[in-house]
Amino acid sequence: MLQIVTSLTSSRDRTEAALVYLTSAVAKRGISYSTVDLSGTIGYHSPPPQLVQSCSDSGWLNPSSITEADWMDAYLPKIEGPGPVLFSAQFSPDVVFHARQSVRCKRRYPHIVTAIGGCALTGLSAEQLEFTSRFFDLVFVGYEVDKALDWLMGQKEGSSARRPVLFSDGPPDIEPDYSLVELRSGVTVYSGHGCYYARCRFCDYPSRSNRHVFYRSPQKVATDLRQVADLNPRVSDITLTQDAYSEKQLRETAAAVAMEGPEVPYHVMFRAEPWVNRDLAKTLAASGCTEVFIGAEALDDRILNVLGKGVTTNHIVKALRALSGYVHVTVGLVLFVPGVEERWLHSQEKTLASVIDIVDEIEPEILTVVNGSEFANSARKYGIRLYADDHWVNDSWCFGLSQDIPWTFENSDSLGLWLEHCDKLKDLCVGRSRGEYWERINRVRERIMK
Ligand code: SF4
Repeated sequence: MLQIVTSLTSSRDRTEAALVYLTSAVAKRGISYSTVDLSGTIGYHSPPPQLVQSCSDSGWLNPSSITEADWMDAYLPKIEGPGPVLFSAQFSPDVVFHARQSVRCKRRYPHIVTAIGGCALTGLSAEQLEFTSRFFDLVFVGYEVDKALDWLMGQKEGSSARRPVLFSDGPPDIEPDYSLVELRSGVTVYSGHGCYYARCRFCDYPSRSNRHVFYRSPQKVATDLRQVADLNPRVSDITLTQDAYSEKQLRETAAAVAMEGPEVPYHVMFRAEPWVNRDLAKTLAASGCTEVFIGAEALDDRILNVLGKGVTTNHIVKALRALSGYVHVTVGLVLFVPGVEERWLHSQEKTLASVIDIVDEIEPEILTVVNGSEFANSARKYGIRLYADDHWVNDSWCFGLSQDIPWTFENSDSLGLWLEHCDKLKDLCVGRSRGEYWERINRVRERIMK
């Protein structure tokens, strides 16, 4: 019997699309399976302290950090063999814990076949994937679940010495059957993947091997929402996943959902493009969309330019004005951008003050420099020092199996500028941002003061 092991970091009150697609693909083939649900076992924002390791620690990309980490076993149930095991990894801590679980399975059942897939693998470097492959028989990167199953079910016990990394670049090759999983109050529904813009300097998208842009049929998305609503009327929140909606796909999806009329509130995220207007806001609201996340990243044209965001402050402000009043609007900001000047930050404060009343929530995130991004590839050019072991702005975690690279500024004056700016932003965002964001910024401050 095949065992599907879920992500440990996924939320206990949300049903992830990845699990729905996996179980649907397995059931379609008539493979008998069971699910080991580990969701909520560890908090993404409060991981076990052992996982948080500096890049100068001995456990960094060291196999013994996983093979000898007995402490992890307290978080992991025993998996009964000898059938194959398929691990689903949403975030980097999942990769580490699943690797440990795979090691345990193989100690107990030396011929067991194990595979790992999921979005946590997408952003890993070749070196990290090679390292991960030491613990599994298959590392699967991509969406075509059937390809992974072909390989996995084709393996006979003991025939899995190759340890390959398998890439796929197409969309999922099956339709999801939500009746196969427990539907919780929140559900994610896959609406496509890939980004038509693909030029943000902080994003790994430009260097991904898989840059196929796929928009799922709006009718199929609407049918999924109907399916979810019919199966569990108590579902109160659906997230439509899509890296970057085009105007056409967004409008057609909203129209299809409105026609289907499932009456489950849903939320989406999209870029603050010039096409975001009041008519779109009305269309979204009429279809049941209640929340929109806009990854604005900055509210000053010069900072947006450093980030390579491809929209202007005017576009963002216009989009926020259009959406306000129709949907709950959350704005993502990226803090600690390199190469900024004090006057740019002052201008950002002024713009934020001018729109704060029409924004429901702000998510101020510290910049993460990720594998494959322009910031990582040409760090010096942007004033970024990678793998810093002192005064780091963002350190990595998970023994080097995270997509994030520890970094700090080349010019330490930038730190002082940003910390001062963060104090002002925090005052502006009172009642509109969660405390955990500011706590993270305080930890940066504390490290620097040491
Ligand atoms: S951050 Fe978003 S919009 Fe920018 S390149 Fe990445 S996926 Fe595209």
